[in-house]
Amino acid sequence: MWTALRAEILRIALPPLAGLGVGMIFAAPGWGLAAGALAALAWSFWNLVGLLRGVGAERGPQGTGVAAEIGRRWRERRRLDSQRRAELLRLRREFITLRRAMPDGALMLDADGAILWANSVARRWFGLEIPGDVGRPLMQIVRDPALIERLEQRRPGEVELASPAQPQTELLVRLAPYDSKRTLLIARDISRLKRLERMRRDFVANVSHELRSPLTVISGYLELMTEDAETPSAWRAPVAEMRRQAVRMVAIVRDLLELARLESEASAPPRTRVDVAALIERVRAQVTAGGVGGRHIDVRLRSRAALLGAETELESAAGNLVSNAVKYTADDGVIEVVWQDAGGGAELIVADNGIGIPERDIPRLTERFYRVDKARSARSGGTGLGLAIVKHVAERHGARLRIESKLGEGSRFVLGFPARRVQRVAEPARTPTTAED
Ligand code: ADP
Repeated sequence: MWTALRAEILRIALPPLAGLGVGMIFAAPGWGLAAGALAALAWSFWNLVGLLRGVGAERGPQGTGVAAEIGRRWRERRRLDSQRRAELLRLRREFITLRRAMPDGALMLDADGAILWANSVARRWFGLEIPGDVGRPLMQIVRDPALIERLEQRRPGEVELASPAQPQTELLVRLAPYDSKRTLLIARDISRLKRLERMRRDFVANVSHELRSPLTVISGYLELMTEDAETPSAWRAPVAEMRRQAVRMVAIVRDLLELARLESEASAPPRTRVDVAALIERVRAQVTAGGVGGRHIDVRLRSRAALLGAETELESAAGNLVSNAVKYTADDGVIEVVWQDAGGGAELIVADNGIGIPERDIPRLTERFYRVDKARSARSGGTGLGLAIVKHVAERHGARLRIESKLGEGSRFVLGFPARRVQRVAEPARTPTTAED
């Protein structure tokens, strides 16, 4: 830079100095200086013209001194710019190829859920025309309440739904808000997975169904043999054991069928008014009839609210919790069944002072056939499916199952129902609808 400045100073200073020298020879220094200054000015002007011309031309600004330096920097900048542009173009091409190759549907939405952009897979699944549908709210196209709720609240998470344009395609839609204004929606085809899941479910349901009748016959005959006075005494013990096992198998088949039914139920449970006090009373009577030894079942009704749901499912869930509490509590134990308001909703609590559950087992209790102590569960006629049923019923009613336990001290199972599934006494009866869940 200094070289350019030095050359520029020389270029400005030299002509006037030379003019002055020549002027002094001819005894007219003033004229000489003026002529020299004029020449310097003309030279500068010429340089500026060169600069101006060069900016528009391919070769860039030309000239001497500072003009030459400007030209050099201009050309350097242009070189960097074109390198950067080429890199951006390459990235853009790569992005477009990637977008086309992507097997998932991708949609970009603004803060109000309006469509900004969609790749071709998403266009196909959501039946979109781009650019025609740009700016259209996705809620107008997708009617799924769970997705609409997430979109409105801009809540990240996953929702399963049928493709609006190709109903036979089942999608797992993932929402990811990625700045204060935009949301990325990624949809994946899970039709195959769902089909396999359905096949597994149907298989289990069919096998259970087929086993039900023979097992009922076997256990019926075994019961007759147990009670028949003519059964040889040597046979009594094995027959009684066979009968116990047959009864257990009947119970497993019954629970498997109930689980299969709960799983295959696509629609939300009805919103029938369920009198919780009466439900608890029925459960208590059933469990007591099955034998509770010296155990006490205390019922505390702290809320007068009713539940809105499927009565048989809720009764089955409560029945499983209470009979578990009886099974896993010592003979002089106390079981407490509480119904109370909680937050906007209400909760059903089944607590016992029984054997408790090790902390590491708690997260796995609702898995099918998961038992802390297999032998004890089998002895007490357990199927290992009770809590899986409870979890399914809870999920279907939008409730949360909370399990708290201390080994040796007891357990607490809490079913927390949301406000929309709870009806307060003063509230008028709501019209039954299944649209909310
Ligand atoms: P099961 O038919 O074996 O009782 P469940 O699914 O109902 O099957 O329960 C799973 C396991 O959870 C049980 O085997 C038992 O180990 C444990 N469990 C359930 N309820 C209780 C309870 N109230 N106290 C202690 N353990 C429990």
